[in-house]
Amino acid sequence: MTTRKSRSTAQSAINRLELGEHPDLGDIQSWIEAKNGRPIVIGELSTLRGNDICGLWFLHEGRDYVLHAPLNSSWHRQYIILHEFAHMILGHRCTPTSQRLVDLPGFPGGPIQVLGRVSFEDEDEAATELLAGLLMERLSQARDLPSDPAGFSKVFG
Ligand SMILES: [Zn+2]
Repeated sequence: MTTRKSRSTAQSAINRLELGEHPDLGDIQSWIEAKNGRPIVIGELSTLRGNDICGLWFLHEGRDYVLHAPLNSSWHRQYIILHEFAHMILGHRCTPTSQRLVDLPGFPGGPIQVLGRVSFEDEDEAATELLAGLLMERLSQARDLPSDPAGFSKVFG
């Protein structure tokens, strides 16, 4: 569901981003890291299968983790990461009801809290998707690549 409100939310969010002329994924990452004052760790999680959930974002011991399913396409991988970045840029820091506990391999100390996939209002998820699309466009312009070669417009966790 795309509404005027989610469109303007996404648009004003990207207008506030201070990115250089030719930003890459790392520039967006640095911008978020500076804003939130903590590092972001991006990694692949082989147990994510991609048909249900392609990416997730959570805070663990002072770091933001963005994990994605193993993907063949670097374009797809970038899109998933940008979707999670968009949640961060929009300030979707979890409320208790938007979190669920999951067990992740490699993270000792028991289950950790991640964003619940169905936790957001449609409006928030729509704004996230739109912002991810706008970010994708910025990166594509910088590299002169087609912005949506496969026609992806799906919503990921
Ligand atoms: Zn999402």
